[in-house]
Amino acid sequence: MAVERVRVMTGSNYDVIVVGGGPGGLAAAVHMAQKGLKVKVFEKKKVLGKPVRCGEFFPYKDEMAKLLPRVKDLDVLDVPSNAADNKCSKIRVVSPRGKVFEFPFNSFILDRHIFESHLADVARSYGAEVDVGIQVHYYPDKNGVGPSPEKVVTSDLVIASDGFPSETAAAAGLPEKEYANPYSVATNMQYLMTDLEVEQDVAELYMDPRYSPGGYGWIIPKGEKSANVGIGIREPYVKREWTIRDLLVGFIEKNKVASNRLRGGKRASMVADSLPVDGPLKRTYTDKVMAVGDAAGMVMPTNGGGIPTALITGRLAGEAAVRYFESKVPLSSYEDAWKEQMGTEMENSRIMRVVSDRFMGHGFMFHLMLRLIGTERISDVIMCQMPSNMDKIFHLLA
Ligand SMILES: Cc1cc2nc3c(=O)[nH]c(=O)nc-3n(C[C@H](O)[C@H](O)[C@H](O)COP(=O)(O)OP(=O)(O)OC[C@H]3O[C@@H](n4cnc5c(N)ncnc54)[C@H](O)[C@@H]3O)c2cc1C
Repeated sequence: MAVERVRVMTGSNYDVIVVGGGPGGLAAAVHMAQKGLKVKVFEKKKVLGKPVRCGEFFPYKDEMAKLLPRVKDLDVLDVPSNAADNKCSKIRVVSPRGKVFEFPFNSFILDRHIFESHLADVARSYGAEVDVGIQVHYYPDKNGVGPSPEKVVTSDLVIASDGFPSETAAAAGLPEKEYANPYSVATNMQYLMTDLEVEQDVAELYMDPRYSPGGYGWIIPKGEKSANVGIGIREPYVKREWTIRDLLVGFIEKNKVASNRLRGGKRASMVADSLPVDGPLKRTYTDKVMAVGDAAGMVMPTNGGGIPTALITGRLAGEAAVRYFESKVPLSSYEDAWKEQMGTEMENSRIMRVVSDRFMGHGFMFHLMLRLIGTERISDVIMCQMPSNMDKIFHLLA
């Protein structure tokens, strides 16, 4: 009832408009619509989740509970069985010199089109409108969002979930542009490869400064002899006159371990996109707008994973919107919530990324560092946990 009254008083078309129908925006929409808010999502892609710009690696809920132990409600990470193409039970890290470190870790390999369509269906079932194939812009002076200033739809709140860099967050005055320095942003490129003989229950990460400078390479098996094969790089670490495509082809054809695994495979399709890897934006809300997922820098800096954190922050923003309409709680409650529930892990992960940056440029040093810290601590670092007894050293080196 309280919700209804606010909308009637302000005369807006919607309580909340969500710009971007990826995991973050859709998770927010599901929660808000379920709680009775009038919600509209605009997604510029014609088909949700397609083309896929993602390795689609997605930890099981109980793995995420270890990774982000303070998150109160992880149900937002539930995956319907038809949205998983494959399951892996291990992660294997390969050093620049080919040494292998392997540890158990359960994950789904998603079909993001099915996953995001499912979220949209759930949001619609609660009454949300999800419009696809419409690119919109945020016009703060017109109090709304639309494909042009003449076609604005108004709302009391806006959720910026349009990925990175977020035009919506920037238009709202959030520090999106300040974030975008070349050390803070990775460029990822990936082929879907077929006709492969790769092991299907191991996701592989390759630390190889030659072909993934400033990032890492991956082989993520998708089932049926296929895999997402990609690299993430950061510009300042690229020493040769190579494009990212040259580097990816180099990784596939010349990395000693990967080239053996991928021999005979066919490259079916290619995608590329940028990713924020320096932790959350310094500010993630205004009095009217909340930024979630990539738009807010919510990617785990040591592993580049952003689907779970987009879902979690989307849900937290949805909860803050409900509080706003029910009892006028300001949107700062969103930032308070994500800081309380995942702020420490995101900051630890950022610090560990900054420290490993010091070794990234040198293959041998990086190899040595991996050998010294060993499998258990490598697993901690990748999973955003400060390895025991090492927090002082990491803080000192950062
Ligand atoms: C190559 C690559 C591989 C990756 N692999 C993994 C992985 O294996 N596991 C993992 O967890 N993460 C991975 N990530 C990161 C992950 O894809 C993102 O962190 C995640 O998708 C973030 O979700 P989001 O909802 O915040 O943003 P997005 O998924 O980017 O969704 C934003 C949506 O907004 C839409 N949009 C943008 N602008 C507008 C506009 N003006 N109007 C309307 N709609 C708009 C976009 O079309 C898009 O659908 C990878 C990223 C890349 C680039």
